[in-house]
Amino acid sequence: MSDQRAEEVDVVVIGLGPGGEEVAGRLADAGLTVVGVEQHLLGGECPYYGCVPSKMMVRAADLLAEARRVRGMAGEATVTADFAPVARRIRTEATDDWNDRVAVDRFEKRGGHFVRGRGVLDGPGRVRVGERAFTARRGVVIGTGTSPAVPPIPGLADVRYWTNRDAVKAERAPASLVVLGGGAVGLEMAQAFSRFGSRVTVIEEQQRVLAVEEPEVSAVLAAVFGAEGIDVRVGRKATRVAADGESIAVHTEDGTVVPGERLLVATGRRAGLTGIGLGTVGLEESASTIHTDERMRAGERLWAVGDVTGAGLFTHVAMYQAQIAIADILGRDGPPADYRALAWVTFTDPEVGRVGMSEAQARAARLRVRTGAAEVRQSSRGRIHGPGNAGLIKLVEDADRGVLVGATSVGPWGGEVLSMLTLAVHAGVPVRTLRTMHYAFPTFHRGMLDALAALGGEA
Ligand SMILES: Cc1cc2nc3c(=O)[nH]c(=O)nc-3n(C[C@H](O)[C@H](O)[C@H](O)COP(=O)(O)OP(=O)(O)OC[C@H]3O[C@@H](n4cnc5c(N)ncnc54)[C@H](O)[C@@H]3O)c2cc1C
Repeated sequence: MSDQRAEEVDVVVIGLGPGGEEVAGRLADAGLTVVGVEQHLLGGECPYYGCVPSKMMVRAADLLAEARRVRGMAGEATVTADFAPVARRIRTEATDDWNDRVAVDRFEKRGGHFVRGRGVLDGPGRVRVGERAFTARRGVVIGTGTSPAVPPIPGLADVRYWTNRDAVKAERAPASLVVLGGGAVGLEMAQAFSRFGSRVTVIEEQQRVLAVEEPEVSAVLAAVFGAEGIDVRVGRKATRVAADGESIAVHTEDGTVVPGERLLVATGRRAGLTGIGLGTVGLEESASTIHTDERMRAGERLWAVGDVTGAGLFTHVAMYQAQIAIADILGRDGPPADYRALAWVTFTDPEVGRVGMSEAQARAARLRVRTGAAEVRQSSRGRIHGPGNAGLIKLVEDADRGVLVGATSVGPWGGEVLSMLTLAVHAGVPVRTLRTMHYAFPTFHRGMLDALAALGGEA
């Protein structure tokens, strides 16, 4: 397509997930001429297939678990799990067509120009979408996100399997579910379906579930899942998948066969970079992520935000990076991208909150590391809470500087307890200060004092 027929604009954003939508909307608010290109649904993975529907399912499943904990605490409660209400809630509140229409309308009211289609780079500052071509005076932002990665396991392509996109649209809980992958997505779904009555088996290739987290976390989750009747098999590589009548059977390296009515593949994500013309802007055509500098710049008049940067596959990372790219495009000063206190939560029950480095990462970075951990059930609030109180707070200190470089909070509302830990790591609050603060009694976050005591060092 020649430049003569290209439409001139200020910025083209390819991919309108949380990152791209934020960039496109805010730049339109600032008065720039912005074209937002989206090939599927405006909003990306999070509202339709990711965070929102999965957490609706988790919330419903957690209610069931809490109701089942009434026994021995406050009388008797008989709960009959019914998947229909949560399926209905997801159908209505994470509705594809309706939310997409609302989001397009909102973007256009802000002055943005929405184009449905697949955006392809065509040289610096140039994008093609089907027959249309755009030249972007200020530049192009890539926010094409990720989609489920499906491993090349023999037979998998020949059976009907679920990814997260199917699992969150389920109308009923299957009688049995095999989950391939014991990462965050796999574990959240495994526990939710199990609580709704599915017989669930998790197959994880690594030696422990949630392997990016501290080993103590994997141990807590393995124990909790086991106690809930979820069959967690670690260190098992799936070698073949076959149809078994209406069901499927997963064969693992050790010769066992795991049958299930449904198979959920939750083995990671693949960036949406294939065939988008990276080579035309001087990047590696087959790159699996886009390397950016601290201003989210990826090349000449080119920025990238969100999952494609590989900095952390989370909505809040995409939104954080969006602010940095926006400031840079508008020529405004602002802090550079900083991931030292990157935080995230896995919404299992107990929740797993994590910020910054794990102990192993801190040691690999050659810091003089001191750690302290305290179990939730040993704390006053943990004892009061009773059933469902598994968890811990673990702190990772750079002992030379006397500050936390990482922390983990597992437990009821572990993701909320994380907020204080994130602040401590982000702001470099001295451990000395943390030891002398007020911690309201009897809260879960007060367990921090026990973890600080276990850290040793200065009293
Ligand atoms: C089951 C699940 C649960 C999750 N839960 C959480 C959670 O609790 N908290 C959290 O922070 N994160 C969670 N995430 C992760 C979160 O959804 C992603 O990190 C986030 O959506 C990434 O945003 P993004 O802007 O990078 O891109 P995406 O949301 O992936 O969106 C990218 C968009 O680009 C479009 N696109 C791709 N290629 C093109 C092209 N060439 N042209 C035009 N459009 C294109 C796609 O159609 C898509 O709409 C979860 C993910 C999953 C799968």
